[in-house]
Amino acid sequence: MSELLATTGTIAAIATAIVPQQGSVGIVRVSGSQALAIAQTLFHAPGKQVWESHRILYGYIRHPQTRQLVDEALLLIMKAPRSYTREDVIEFHCHGGIMAVQQVLQLCLENGARLAQAGEFTLRAFLHGRLDLTQAEGIADLVGAKSPQAAQAALAGLQGKLAHPIRQLRTNCLDILAEIEARIDFEEDLPPLDDKVIISAIENISAEISRLLATKDQGELLRSGLKVAIVGRPNVGKSSLLNAWSQSDRAIVTDLPGTTRDVVESQLVVGGIPVQVLDTAGIRATSDQVEKIGVERSRHAANTADLVLLTIDAATGWTTDDQEIYEQVQHRPLILVINKIDLVEKQFLTSLKYPQNIHHIVYTAAAQKQGISHLETAILALVKTEKLQAADMDLAINQRQAAALTQAKISLEQVQATINQQLPLDFWTIDLRGAIHALGEITGEEVTESVLDRIFSKFCIGK
Ligand code: GDP
Repeated sequence: MSELLATTGTIAAIATAIVPQQGSVGIVRVSGSQALAIAQTLFHAPGKQVWESHRILYGYIRHPQTRQLVDEALLLIMKAPRSYTREDVIEFHCHGGIMAVQQVLQLCLENGARLAQAGEFTLRAFLHGRLDLTQAEGIADLVGAKSPQAAQAALAGLQGKLAHPIRQLRTNCLDILAEIEARIDFEEDLPPLDDKVIISAIENISAEISRLLATKDQGELLRSGLKVAIVGRPNVGKSSLLNAWSQSDRAIVTDLPGTTRDVVESQLVVGGIPVQVLDTAGIRATSDQVEKIGVERSRHAANTADLVLLTIDAATGWTTDDQEIYEQVQHRPLILVINKIDLVEKQFLTSLKYPQNIHHIVYTAAAQKQGISHLETAILALVKTEKLQAADMDLAINQRQAAALTQAKISLEQVQATINQQLPLDFWTIDLRGAIHALGEITGEEVTESVLDRIFSKFCIGK
């Protein structure tokens, strides 16, 4: 049995982010049969406070032997089954920083709990039927969300908006299976199966699977976001562009060429998509050792980015240096940003030369914060979000769910082929069972330990 599924006993972990000297509240969460006993051993609630479920008690956490005070805290009691894990759960709401929560956690571990593994609270919620797998994944997505839209899609998963249609599809497959099996078992007593009805039912299921699969790209964009690298020779206005874009002053803007020596990063949100922007040092041959490292890093950043913003100076036009940089990044999806348009006449812009292969062009005056919205529109057009936004924004399946849905679809196509070839009914059921299994994997009705391990090990400890 996997380590995760062998989980028994009472578990404890710090449930809040652990940042030294920061945070006003830190929470230690305990789940399992010993949770209440641990609370009673460690927590002293003065006065006539009642130890009831779903109540907050005020008091002190003390070392049970030395009676030394560890923290002044609140205690939240949630008795089974009305808790996240459906077990007895208690939470100590301590002071922030790391000292209080670490000492309280230590006391829990010395008094009957063991340290929770990553995702173990949520795994218990799943094993006790409180959540299905898509909801558990929704929780991880919500914690990791980098844009409000990503959080929205995660919440939809959490509320069962994916689980519901998947369960319905699985039920439909089970109904068809029951029809076929009845014919296998009681062939003489039942009217013969109408192939056309079965095939049409399977087609409907496949169409719904395709609809769900179409949300995969959106899901990936929302979850992982886009990596965008701003490249160009020194002084064309890369840092100014990033500054104007992020409205921040994280990149140092100077008049000296080659002063953005390293890669500067910014996290932005464009049309709901989390965008990580890398401002790279000018990609060009250099003898300066420090700059060389910067140049190498920017080349790497440009090559790992989903999208390159090749920035040039409108006043100087397309130079041989621009050409050199272009040749290094032209295999990537690319937008040409013609910056400093405030310095030139409009006619000059229209006559400006650049390689004909470049199809996406944006004009900016970064120092004047002009053209940023055009840039964002061009980026969204390039990642085809207009199409994605037309899809159901509420749903965004992940790679695991997409793989299972694809498997279900393939199995259903095989069932259709089997029917068309007029093979015996036993053969129909084989692939139909395959589709039912794949759909069951998504919600967790049929799931292997290794899948569970993979899903829950991505969670943080305490979740
Ligand atoms: P980088 O080396 O490519 O990062 O270029 P910087 O962002 O450091 O900009 C170099 C110089 O060009 C600075 O003096 C900026 O103020 C100036 N600059 C940047 N964008 C514009 C623009 O759109 N118009 C004008 N006139 N100057 C700009």
